[in-house]
Amino acid sequence: MPEETIDTLVIGGGQAGLTMSHRLKQRGIAHLVLERRRIAERWRSERWDGLMFQFPNWSVRLPEFAFPHSDPDGFSTTAAIIAFIEAYAAFVAPPIRCGVEVTRLRRDATGFVAEIAGGSIAARNVVVATGPYQRPLRPELLDEHPGLFQVHASSYKNPAQLPDGAVLVVGAGASGAQITDELMRAGRRVFLSVGRHNRLPRRYRGRDLFWWLAEMGVDETPVEQRGPSRLLPVISGAHGGHTIDFRRFAADGVTLLGRVTTARDGVLEIAPDLTTNIANGDAYYATFLGIVDDFIAARGLDHPDDPVARIRLPDPPCLSAPLRTVDLRAERISSVIWATGYGLDLNWIDIPLLDAGGAPRHRHGVSDVPGLYFLGLQWLSKMKSSFLSGVGDDAAALADHIAARS
Ligand SMILES: Cc1cc2nc3c(=O)[nH]c(=O)nc-3n(C[C@H](O)[C@H](O)[C@H](O)COP(=O)(O)OP(=O)(O)OC[C@H]3O[C@@H](n4cnc5c(N)ncnc54)[C@H](O)[C@@H]3O)c2cc1C
Repeated sequence: MPEETIDTLVIGGGQAGLTMSHRLKQRGIAHLVLERRRIAERWRSERWDGLMFQFPNWSVRLPEFAFPHSDPDGFSTTAAIIAFIEAYAAFVAPPIRCGVEVTRLRRDATGFVAEIAGGSIAARNVVVATGPYQRPLRPELLDEHPGLFQVHASSYKNPAQLPDGAVLVVGAGASGAQITDELMRAGRRVFLSVGRHNRLPRRYRGRDLFWWLAEMGVDETPVEQRGPSRLLPVISGAHGGHTIDFRRFAADGVTLLGRVTTARDGVLEIAPDLTTNIANGDAYYATFLGIVDDFIAARGLDHPDDPVARIRLPDPPCLSAPLRTVDLRAERISSVIWATGYGLDLNWIDIPLLDAGGAPRHRHGVSDVPGLYFLGLQWLSKMKSSFLSGVGDDAAALADHIAARS
C-alpha cells in the first residue's frame, strides 16, 4: 500500500516541472514535485563550463517571471540560467522534494503508484517532466581503444579535462560545433566529424535568429506541421553569439571529416559524405535567408540588406579532398568527444505506452493513459515546446486538462 496519496504528481524538477507546479498552483490543484537530485540538475551537471545559452537574453523568460539582464542582445552563461531557474523556484515555491528518484511508475486500480526509495506515492494524475535530453547516445565504435580518453558531450567540462594531444569531436550539431570552437580557441588541434546538420545564421538583416522565428511565427509551428527532419539547428551563443561556419573552422585549422563509420587498430574509416553534408547544411542556411527575405518583401519591412551573411569562404583542402581514413596514433589524437546526441530513457514507466523508438504516445502531452501526461519533450505540441520560454503554454494546457478531470 502506498504510504502517501496526492492528486497530481510531477516527476522532474527542471524548468518543466517547476512551470507545471506554477500552473497547478494557479488552478488550486494539490500536487507534489519529485526531483531525483537538485533543481535544474541537468544544467548543473550535464553541461560544459563554457556553454552559453543559445537564445538571446531578451527572449529568456518563464511564466510571469522575467530573466534579469543588462544586455538584451547578449547570451547568458549556464550559471546565470541555473540562478534564474533557482529564482523561479523561489517565486513558484513548489511543494518539491529533492533527492527523491521515481524508480518505477505503475498503474493500480485508482490511478498511479510511483515507487521511490523506501516507499511509494499514489497519485490520480502524473506529469512526467524528466526532460527532452535524458540519455547520452554514444556509438560503440571506439570501445576497443582503451588508451583513448573518451567522453560524451554531457560529461565534457573544459579543454583542461583532456590529455595533451589532438582531439576528435564526433558530431557537428550545436554541441559538437561549440566544443570544437572552444577547443580550437584553447589551442588544440581538432578533427571534426560532420554528419547531416541544419545550419542557421545567428543574425540576419539586423536581427537575431530567434527574433525572426518569433516574428514569422515559426516557433509556434504545430507539431502536426513538423517536417521530416529531426535535426536541431547548429547555433551558438558563445563569444557574443556567432554563426557556425564549418569553412571558417577549417580556415582556423580544424580538419573536417565525414562520418566515422568503423575503427580498427586505431585507424578510422571515414564515409565519403562530407561534401554532401556541408552542401545540405549550406542549402538549409540559404533557404532560411530566402524565407526571411520573402517575409520582409511581403510585409514591406525595412531591414538593411546583409551581404556578409551570404559570403561563402573558399572550400578548404579537407573539404575539396576529404580524408577517407584517419590514423589516430599518426595524428596524435588522444581524446574523443562524442557529441552524438541524446535519447529518451523512460523504461522506468511500467505502463505500455512507449512506441518502438522508446518515445511515449501522446497528443500535446496528453497520453493514451487517462491521467498520465508528458511535459517538456521536443515538439510536444509545437516547435517551442521544449524551449525555456515555450514550456509555459503546454503546462497551462495540461493543468487545464487535469482540472477538467477533477
Ligand atoms: C548542450 C545543450 C545545450 C542546450 N542549450 C539550450 C539553450 O540554449 N536554450 C534552451 O532553451 N534549451 C537548451 N537546451 C535544452 C534544455 O537543456 C532543455 O530543454 C531543458 O533542460 C529542459 O528542461 P526540462 O525541465 O524539460 O528537463 P530537464 O532540465 O532535463 O529536467 C528534468 C529533471 O528531471 C529529473 N529526473 C529525471 N528522471 C527522474 C526520475 N525518475 N525521478 C525524479 N526526477 C527525475 C532530472 O534530474 C532533471 O532535473 C540545451 C540542451 C543541451 C543538451
